[in-house]
Amino acid sequence: MKVLVINAGSSSLKYQLIDMETEAVLAKGLCERIGIDGHLKHTPLVGGKPVFNEDIALPTHSEAIAAVIDKLTSAEYGVVASMSEIDAVGHRVVHGGEKFASSVRITDEVMKALEDCTPFAPLHNPANITGINACTAVMGKDVPQVAVFDTAFHQTMPAKAFTYAVPYEYYKNDGIRRYGFHGTSHRYVSARCAELMGKPIEELKLISCHMGNGSSICAIDGGKSVDTSMGFTPLVGLPMGTRSGDLDAGILQYLMNKYGMNIDEMLNVLNKKSGVLGVSGVSSDFRDLEDAHKKGNDRAGLAVDMFNYGVKKLIGAYAAAMNGVDAIIFTAGVGENDKGIRAMVCDGLEYMGVKLDPAANDVRGKEAVISAADSKVKVLLIPTNEELMIAMDTEALVG
Ligand code: ADP
Repeated sequence: MKVLVINAGSSSLKYQLIDMETEAVLAKGLCERIGIDGHLKHTPLVGGKPVFNEDIALPTHSEAIAAVIDKLTSAEYGVVASMSEIDAVGHRVVHGGEKFASSVRITDEVMKALEDCTPFAPLHNPANITGINACTAVMGKDVPQVAVFDTAFHQTMPAKAFTYAVPYEYYKNDGIRRYGFHGTSHRYVSARCAELMGKPIEELKLISCHMGNGSSICAIDGGKSVDTSMGFTPLVGLPMGTRSGDLDAGILQYLMNKYGMNIDEMLNVLNKKSGVLGVSGVSSDFRDLEDAHKKGNDRAGLAVDMFNYGVKKLIGAYAAAMNGVDAIIFTAGVGENDKGIRAMVCDGLEYMGVKLDPAANDVRGKEAVISAADSKVKVLLIPTNEELMIAMDTEALVG
């Protein structure tokens, strides 16, 4: 089976065509500036075909999907002979609310339920829905489509972990609770971790650290998410590239009154101008921060320290929540590439049996056990693969 995986944003659309027999990515690409002017980069990964990287008109997501199908099937850039070789489409959908605890085959009823979840993710879900509608318009209703949610994996959290200490009616009437995000990534790396450790996931207590531009930590007990650091939105938890992470809500009132900001302006500061960018004043990219710190920029060093400290505290908290931990997993841009941050996070966790092997930690972007042989808690680097997870769910549901 060949599955087209789509991750639609408001003005962009990422895709991969995956052959599930071999799990090989046949082609991948990115449509950008949809609704503005349009650009498509299409990279075939089999058959020695050239890369297509040009401006093309993309007035809506439908033209973007049509352009993707055109390139996937073209004589010059294609990897399949015709659209009929694409058996199913898997979509990343950000928010599934409490309605979706697992991936689901898309029907009219599911589309309605996705619309109902839109107020929870007003920027992301409409783009995901547009991507699904564009596929239906271009490929027809007969090609099965599946929605895979960032939130679904965390639906196993107990009420004590997902309830906010505000009047309970806000949960009952308005759905105010911790939902958590990055679920597809946490699910993928935890399953790989169990495979690499050669143990049933049901017997493992894992802490997954997804550290990228957006970051979240997840406690996974017996294969189930029992707590995670993102909340009602992806704004909270760790300090991130540009997002603040946790902060005292009283600060909002103080700053909004002092600077005459409305709530949208305040949230714009917290989403786009905060995190390690806000603290350092240098960049949201950890590579830039480490360079700046080496050149003597103390605020860049402070931003990285705050991030590491945040991860370390959550590891301690989640080990407490699960009464222990068998393995810690590092993944995503920072987790997969930055041995220094992995070392700093693990430094000081010896009390709970974490001992990194510096030589084994000297690795980037590939699966590896990076703890010492006598470390009670295993530490692993596992590159995430949300696209493959989406394709696997799609195959499982479409059959
Ligand atoms: P996203 O959350 O957008 O999916 P990624 O998981 O791709 O993000 O992570 C992107 C981030 O990873 C970059 O902003 C950068 O901070 C970090 N990163 C990427 N490569 C490296 C590297 N070699 N060393 C340190 N950090 C890196």
